[in-house]
Amino acid sequence: MPERLLNYINGGWQPSGGADVLPVLNPASATALAEVPLSPAAEVDRAVVAALRAFPEWRSLPAGKRIQPLFALKALVEAHLDELARTVTDECGKTFAEATAELLRAVENIEVACGIPVLMQGHNNENVAPGIDEHLFRQPLGVVAAITPFNFPGMIPFWFLPYAVATGNCFILKPSERVPMTSARMFALLASAGFPPGVVQLVHGGRDTVNALLDHPGIRAISFVGSTATARHIYSRATAAGKRAQCQGGAKNPVVIMPDADMEMTTRILADSAFGCAGQRCLAASVAITVGDARQPLTEQMMAAARDRKVGYGLDSGVEMGPVISAESKRRIETLIAKGEHEGASVLVDGRGRAVAGYEDGYFVFPTLFDGVPPRSEIAHTEIFGPVLGLMHVASMDEAIALVNERRYGNMACIFTSDGASARRFRHEVNAGNVGVNVGVAAPMAYFPFSGWGESFFGDLHAQAAHGVEFYTQTKVVIERWPRDWSRRF
Ligand code: NAD
Repeated sequence: MPERLLNYINGGWQPSGGADVLPVLNPASATALAEVPLSPAAEVDRAVVAALRAFPEWRSLPAGKRIQPLFALKALVEAHLDELARTVTDECGKTFAEATAELLRAVENIEVACGIPVLMQGHNNENVAPGIDEHLFRQPLGVVAAITPFNFPGMIPFWFLPYAVATGNCFILKPSERVPMTSARMFALLASAGFPPGVVQLVHGGRDTVNALLDHPGIRAISFVGSTATARHIYSRATAAGKRAQCQGGAKNPVVIMPDADMEMTTRILADSAFGCAGQRCLAASVAITVGDARQPLTEQMMAAARDRKVGYGLDSGVEMGPVISAESKRRIETLIAKGEHEGASVLVDGRGRAVAGYEDGYFVFPTLFDGVPPRSEIAHTEIFGPVLGLMHVASMDEAIALVNERRYGNMACIFTSDGASARRFRHEVNAGNVGVNVGVAAPMAYFPFSGWGESFFGDLHAQAAHGVEFYTQTKVVIERWPRDWSRRF
């Protein structure tokens, strides 16, 4: 029998009382790994009550004490890195190397949040009037929650958790119901890191569980990462309920290749961006726009890179790309590839209808390369979220930038060039919040905000670092006067 996952509430593991469960499948083999409960609103409420009880004491601990469990957690994650990475590969499909890399990003965020005694500092002015000083303090909000997607189960919860708790909040995670096991393993480590009961909690579930979080009056802020349609829903419902919200959505990332780019390096990096994690990255390159003479060499080399990529189960040696997350996802991707053909693009490398020996039931879509993607077509603008790259060709950088800037998403835009002036112009003019120059996945380090624009983000303050600290704190301004002889002065 596959294990039924438990919620972690008030410092203990509890079975969900709800009747509904979903299977958690290994997408490489379609075998069941576990069952995840779809927790009802009553369990969300139980977690919020425990968090509200824990909050007064937790927020009153000195910041230097609050970060001690984070130091312990960093050591625990590093000690269990391989085991966590195997869990990520098994439930999410990415390769062991990709899984390890995302966990190291989680560690990086824990490290940055350990700097909270400095990051959380306020500021002050002496003598704003004679004998009067003014101070700004940052205080935590209370109970906050995060709702996360399937594609980075080891990293994305850590864009939020470390900053939320280090600033003095109590934190509830609702991970993706498709990849809940990584969070279960992480919380097994969190349980021994030294957090008091109610400070970090895990509630499994689906959309009803999410809506219970959005509506709960005890929750002050919601962090979300997922598709744009869900981000929009979560942002409007959470803010309508008076909560702060930061909601990161989907993407369709363009990459421009100038004729002066180093084509070999560009192809290698672009193929990793488009096909790495089976294209299921919000920072995956999905449209490559060649300028002038870049067209022919880039097209030829990308065809070879797409054909040569070794696809399989992510724990098998030499595998460079795993399956997509589900049968439904595979169907959707293959339907969009057919749609692209219908719209007039030509399929240079076709990843449909392929199987991996020994894993015939797995949800594999092999790398797919389109040429001549029409600028107004659906495949030029719809997030495919699979290993599919579309090529477009233009004569000038002006045209390339115009194509980049007519998109509704703004998660990332990249340029490959050996010319500094082209790179500078590109980074200045493009409408995207994360920009890469000779970089294919422009993922900000933990000490920078993850700066999606357009329909890739709803809110004001992004995830990570200083933005995270601001998001999870409210400012208090204090104006104070301490006259030495009260009666003589007034
Ligand atoms: P998703 O929107 O389907 O699900 C994300 C979370 O929202 C899950 O926890 C899910 O349970 C919940 N959810 C789904 N539908 C809901 C609904 N109707 N009401 C309430 N809650 C709901 O996203 P996904 O398929 O898990 O993740 C892939 C998407 O995430 C892609 O679009 C990708 O671009 C995006 N993403 C964005 C970023 C970023 O930083 N911008 C990072 C990673 C992934």
